[in-house]
Amino acid sequence: MALPQGFIEELHEKNDIVEIVSSHVELKRFGRLYRALCPFHSEKTASFTVYPDTQSFYCFGCGVGGDVITFVMKQENFDYMAAVRFLSERVGLLIPDDDGEDESHRRRKIYDANKKAARFFYSSLNSDEGRGARGYLRKRGLADSTIKRFGIGYAPSGWRNLYEAMLSQGLNEEVLFYSGLCGKGKKGPYDIFRNRIIFPIIDLSGNVAGFGGRSMGEGAKYINTSETSVFRKRRNLYALNIARKSSERSMILVEGYMDVISLHQEGLDNAIATLGTAITPEQARIISKYSDEVVLAYDTDGAGKSATNKAIAVFRKIGMPTRIPDLSGSKDPDEFIKEYGAESFKIRISKSGSSIDYELSKARENNPVELDSGVAFLREATAIISSSDLKAEREIYAGKLSEEFNVDKNTIMTMIERAGRKRYKRNSEEVVFKASDIKKRFDFSSSMKMQLGSVASEQRLISLFFLNPDLVKEYGKELEENFFKSKYVSEIYEELKKSVESGSFFGIGSLSGKISEDAMNMLTKSISEPELINFSREDVEFYIERIRTLNNKLDFTDVIEMDSNELRDHLESKRNEVKEGNE
Ligand SMILES: [Zn+2]
Repeated sequence: MALPQGFIEELHEKNDIVEIVSSHVELKRFGRLYRALCPFHSEKTASFTVYPDTQSFYCFGCGVGGDVITFVMKQENFDYMAAVRFLSERVGLLIPDDDGEDESHRRRKIYDANKKAARFFYSSLNSDEGRGARGYLRKRGLADSTIKRFGIGYAPSGWRNLYEAMLSQGLNEEVLFYSGLCGKGKKGPYDIFRNRIIFPIIDLSGNVAGFGGRSMGEGAKYINTSETSVFRKRRNLYALNIARKSSERSMILVEGYMDVISLHQEGLDNAIATLGTAITPEQARIISKYSDEVVLAYDTDGAGKSATNKAIAVFRKIGMPTRIPDLSGSKDPDEFIKEYGAESFKIRISKSGSSIDYELSKARENNPVELDSGVAFLREATAIISSSDLKAEREIYAGKLSEEFNVDKNTIMTMIERAGRKRYKRNSEEVVFKASDIKKRFDFSSSMKMQLGSVASEQRLISLFFLNPDLVKEYGKELEENFFKSKYVSEIYEELKKSVESGSFFGIGSLSGKISEDAMNMLTKSISEPELINFSREDVEFYIERIRTLNNKLDFTDVIEMDSNELRDHLESKRNEVKEGNE
């Protein structure tokens, strides 16, 4: 049965390979990857490796590799469909079949229900029932145009307002349940949002993905739509649909919907918020696609400060610079901007320092200089500065401290480097490999490349294609029929090309079940080679040329991929050739 690619993609999105593997073996983190003792062969040192970036695994001991589906197949001894069923059930996905509705159909229904619900909430806000809510929003300083722009609405009190309105518009009950708009109780169906201000959450395609609701009376201050196949708290961000179009190259990350809205109302259209959760690495990566820098403007209370620290760490890990403006005197950006205006807010941002400045000022508060003439502060400060990857930046801070404390700059640099080594040791399992370091360590000089055989060159090229699918479109046309001679590589190339051309390629999962086990093992091994992270167009062209040259030179026989019988025959025929040549 051919499953729709959209379903397979969602299955992979929801079943993180690290999570699945770690429920079977104990994973240890090494930078960007994880290692474990291989569950498929017996070993004493961990050579089984999981790569979150490509959502693949590979064992350097027994040569087995694949995606999350392959892992479950091998682990549970399942066939492909059984593994798909297992993973679908785990995350509550419906496997599309011929007579049932498929997942993308279901998604469209959720979007449709959400859109209708958003309209209902918006018109409720402007009805008699919404008077209290309108008063509340006005008191918070929201202009009518802002309310309209964000589609803010009101969910009336009472148990079935939305439910009944939606049924009368022809929606069926089932949709209301799986879109998270209504629940099923002992007394029958009920609305999830009651007597709340409603903030629709729009995704990047402009669809209403879910809702946030702020309490107007009792109950939790904020509730959100529960996770559905179109709404994921760890992924969606509030107002990103607007902020990504901002002319600013930075984004302002705040805690709440009201902060976002009041900043936008004042012309700061690059403000966004997470949906009531701490920022996730996934969200950080999404933000980094649309901006060069993040301004962390969380609440000024204890919870906001600890959220700031966590966010600094998350963004530092992906190499994204952060700044932290000083908003002391107000409890959050909303209050600040009401009291001092947007211009002062912008000035605070422009004056704000990097995450290092922010951490240094906290260290200063914690270690009063009067007590020990700065020794404790210097120790903490040098540890903070050592977190910078840039030598120039470390030197600037060292220079500042040197002047302030009248200590030789070299002494401070030594303290910084020592703190850095300590940190490295302590976090050696947490070190993020930087592409540049890897380039240094694994730079492939052309003389080394020249020694690559044709199979190795083909493997490198297919890995580059796999990791950068745009290259397939770019170079695919100029590759002649049967360009790849390795049977595994050409197998992978055919599937990869199909998937890229149809626009459904999303990584390793789009090939699983379509290429042979051996091809999968080969691919997962090749893409784990670190020098692939940094490549240039010349590398691609080099491999193409190299393969052509070798193809012309050799009567290509792929010894590496032969099984023992084929190899015996091959050697036999070579011997015969030599004999014939001698005669
Ligand atoms: Zn193994």
